[in-house]
Amino acid sequence: MEKYDVLIVGAGVVGTAIARELSRYRLKVAILEKESELSFGVSKSNSGIIHPGTQCNPQLLKSQLCVAGNRSIRRVARELGVDFKEVGELIVAFTPEEVSKLLELKKDGEKLKVPRLQIVSQPWLRKNEPNLSPHALAALFAPTAGIISPYRLTYDLGENAVRNGVAIYTETKVEAIDFTNPGFKVYASKRSFVSDYLINACGLYADEISAMVGITDFVITPRKGEEFLLDKKRENMTNHLIFPLPSKKSKGVLVIKTADGNPMIGPTAVDQKDKSDILTSDQGFKEVISSVQRLVPSINPSDIIAYFAGLRPSAGEDFIIRHENSVFGFVNVAGIQSPGLTAAVSIAEYVSRILKDIGLDLKRKLFFHKTRKRTIHLFNLNKAQAERIISKEPEFADIVCRCEMISKKEVSDAISRGAKTLDGIKFRTRLGAGRCHGGFCTSRALKILSEETDTPITKITKRGGDSYIIKKKRFDD
Ligand SMILES: Cc1cc2nc3c(=O)[nH]c(=O)nc-3n(C[C@H](O)[C@H](O)[C@H](O)COP(=O)(O)OP(=O)(O)OC[C@H]3O[C@@H](n4cnc5c(N)ncnc54)[C@H](O)[C@@H]3O)c2cc1C
Repeated sequence: MEKYDVLIVGAGVVGTAIARELSRYRLKVAILEKESELSFGVSKSNSGIIHPGTQCNPQLLKSQLCVAGNRSIRRVARELGVDFKEVGELIVAFTPEEVSKLLELKKDGEKLKVPRLQIVSQPWLRKNEPNLSPHALAALFAPTAGIISPYRLTYDLGENAVRNGVAIYTETKVEAIDFTNPGFKVYASKRSFVSDYLINACGLYADEISAMVGITDFVITPRKGEEFLLDKKRENMTNHLIFPLPSKKSKGVLVIKTADGNPMIGPTAVDQKDKSDILTSDQGFKEVISSVQRLVPSINPSDIIAYFAGLRPSAGEDFIIRHENSVFGFVNVAGIQSPGLTAAVSIAEYVSRILKDIGLDLKRKLFFHKTRKRTIHLFNLNKAQAERIISKEPEFADIVCRCEMISKKEVSDAISRGAKTLDGIKFRTRLGAGRCHGGFCTSRALKILSEETDTPITKITKRGGDSYIIKKKRFDD
């Protein structure tokens, strides 16, 4: 039975950020994750926006953590070598009533100390966002909005936490918890773990984990968001993230710039019961297209190359981040819907303060490895940089995925950094994420994964469990 000071359940962006934060201290920390790899929950299917804190109610904890997270992510991205781009956002108004709403949003943002907010007029928009609808009258410009790859951030937070001594157990689903007062005994996938403190960072399943220790005063409602990815040739169709005015339920349907270059449109916001239904729909597609064409009329359905849906783990308006006094040592980090990606790093700092307040001794380690070596992605390099890299490491010239220009070296690096599945390689490198959806590169990637992990090709899965790609039966026939 493994004994830890702190166990974290859930290896999404929030769980890995908490693990990295706690790895600064002399503590024995582990993460338990039910999936085969990190970031296979909500953290893989979102818009990748680092929100500035503009469409946020200043009274809410999540708004404050959003603004703090926007500030901190710049440092963390630098330390981990993750690309963060400050592209800025425009919240666009089409009527005089909407323009007065912009002024209210600006006031709220200023209460939260969102920096450099500015109302920009039609001539500014014509000059700086030429593809925006000519009917747009004005916009609230928040220059500190940014973009990041949500899964690369999660992997790099996790990797850095491990470098600093954190253990990560994948394929380890927490099924029961005994509150041993003090401490916890956690039963997960035929193993058991003991810890003094237990942090629930389980995204969509946070209510179920909380119920295991008798805390049942919140329910997670999955709120589906359908998103549609456009071809990279439309990368420069906008210069900023483009938002309509927010609705009560969400920030609206947006035109999104992404860290990978492909623009994205969406997401919808529909509450549902099923925590596993991530199907996209005709209705969602129609809603997204008509909403974004109002913002940028040149967007055409034929630009769409892929689509997905993600589920926001909603537990009411605010995040629930608290120590449960009736279960000493148990911290809920629940209801982390948007802007959870933005806030992840500040949530981690907040959780660390909660633990300190309830008596956990946070003694700094002599050495905390705060940086990690930047992962090389050919798609991020210019020609001269790529030639220099290839002259040193010829495997960068062996292109496996032609759509996204992913080399054999990048695939091997992803595997050596922990990718065990095809999706694990895809999220780390972008292999198979282009127009041909892996039609060209999947067989080669399978072969590399099989050889480098010494796994029979029939045992390789798309995303763990029984998602086998090659059915053994075919070989026997
Ligand atoms: C469509 C959409 C768009 C969004 N856009 C943005 C955005 O642009 N900007 C932003 O800031 N936020 C955005 N968000 C919100 C953001 O994605 C989430 O807030 C964030 O990813 C939540 O991370 P998490 O770590 O809490 O959850 P998850 O990533 O879901 O992590 C929880 C982990 O717990 C694991 N788990 C669950 N049950 C168990 C168990 N019993 N045992 C072990 N492990 C378990 C899961 O497998 C999962 O890996 C968006 C969300 C959606 C759905």
